[in-house]
Amino acid sequence: MPGIPQETIDRVLDATDIVELVGSYVTLKKVGLNFQGLCPFHSEKTPSFSVSMEKRMFRCFGCGASGNAITFIKRHQKLSFPEAIRLLAERSGISIATEEDKKRETLVFCVAKAQEEFRRQLKSGSYLSPLKYLKERGVKAETQEEFGIGYAGSVKELIGSLKRWGIHDKTIPLSIGLLREKEKGMTCPFMGRITLPIVDHKGNTVGFGGRAIENSQQAKYVNSSESAIFSKRRLLFGLNRVKISDDTVLVVEGYFDVLSLHQAGFTNTVGLLGTELSAEQAKILERLAHNVILIFDADAGGKAAILKCLKIPRQNLSVKAVLLPEGDPDEFIRKGKVTEFQGLIEKARGIREIAVEIIGHRVKEESVERLTEEATRIAAEIPDGMEANLFAEEAAKTLNVPAWVLQEKTQARREKKEKIAERKRGLERFLVNELLKNPGLKDMLRLEALKDLFEEGEEKRILVRQILKQ
Ligand SMILES: [Zn+2]
Repeated sequence: MPGIPQETIDRVLDATDIVELVGSYVTLKKVGLNFQGLCPFHSEKTPSFSVSMEKRMFRCFGCGASGNAITFIKRHQKLSFPEAIRLLAERSGISIATEEDKKRETLVFCVAKAQEEFRRQLKSGSYLSPLKYLKERGVKAETQEEFGIGYAGSVKELIGSLKRWGIHDKTIPLSIGLLREKEKGMTCPFMGRITLPIVDHKGNTVGFGGRAIENSQQAKYVNSSESAIFSKRRLLFGLNRVKISDDTVLVVEGYFDVLSLHQAGFTNTVGLLGTELSAEQAKILERLAHNVILIFDADAGGKAAILKCLKIPRQNLSVKAVLLPEGDPDEFIRKGKVTEFQGLIEKARGIREIAVEIIGHRVKEESVERLTEEATRIAAEIPDGMEANLFAEEAAKTLNVPAWVLQEKTQARREKKEKIAERKRGLERFLVNELLKNPGLKDMLRLEALKDLFEEGEEKRILVRQILKQ
């Protein structure tokens, strides 16, 4: 079994009381040395199912089912082998680290050491421009400390530091985009940039945002590349520093927005990593608080982002938004408009209401036909049918077209989307069936890559099980 070592399996089996385990699913009675009950794997009226504490096995004299605790839970709960081990390990409070977990740990360790090094380089006094930059942007020393802000000044020193920590294998920093190969030697994509560590929900630093400090630098921001430990859509900046107040979390677009707001006392702020809000981020927010207030920049980008937010499912969240009258939150706070900002938050409105308003404002410059099309497209993406209908109705009103026009168009789009989804599901089923019938296909298909094309569901679970078996 790749992934879980035999020693771990033995440890889990040793720690599992099979009578207690089976007994939590089947009523057992002590008979002599063993325990007896009705077999859960076939239908019977008199017990022929027996569990031996001593042998740590179960056996059914009716249908022939037999095995140990893993076999039992695997069959009874319809789990894969690793899933069964994981469940048993959890029951006994044993932590099991798979090869994959160990690999992740190595990557996380590498990021942690890079983080220490970037911090050291910023504080070393060898680089004046980043200190000057942070001062100009009003980032206080204690904020730098709190958020672990650093500077990538020397790739040579970075590599030297990683080596001192035993990271000699360059594939490790390469695989997380901390280093990049160039013609001669290595480079680091964060060189010459302020580094902003991004911390996951477990408190591990898993990547960086890098802010350029000179206008001549090509991109204003670079982020760690997507890897086994870093995924922009699953992370938020400031998650490790956020302090929820009033059951509300504020969400802003940029790193420096988060820093400024924290400094101004809005410590319940987190930041998106230069992306639109994703469904995964909405789930993280759901764990933090019930109320979310999204704060968007005054520019066209901010307006477009609000329209996109409507398609994010948000069952247990009350989501409101603020569209700033000018600039971004960082500029706002640095102009000293803290009270005004507080007022804006208090007057946050529903996203739908703002979205309708944004569309309404555009009537002056764009044709009603085009806006109707756009509103239809947005409405068709709204997960909740009732809200989609309301949005269509309100958008129609602001565009001065009959509501049924938008509602009918929306309905048609939703049906088309549903048909495509249905076809996709059919294709997924077909693929998985072929794979089960013909295991040889596994070597030809890149299952890992296919996995991400699958929607969540039974087919995906089967596919993942096949991958784990590889
Ligand atoms: Zn049986």
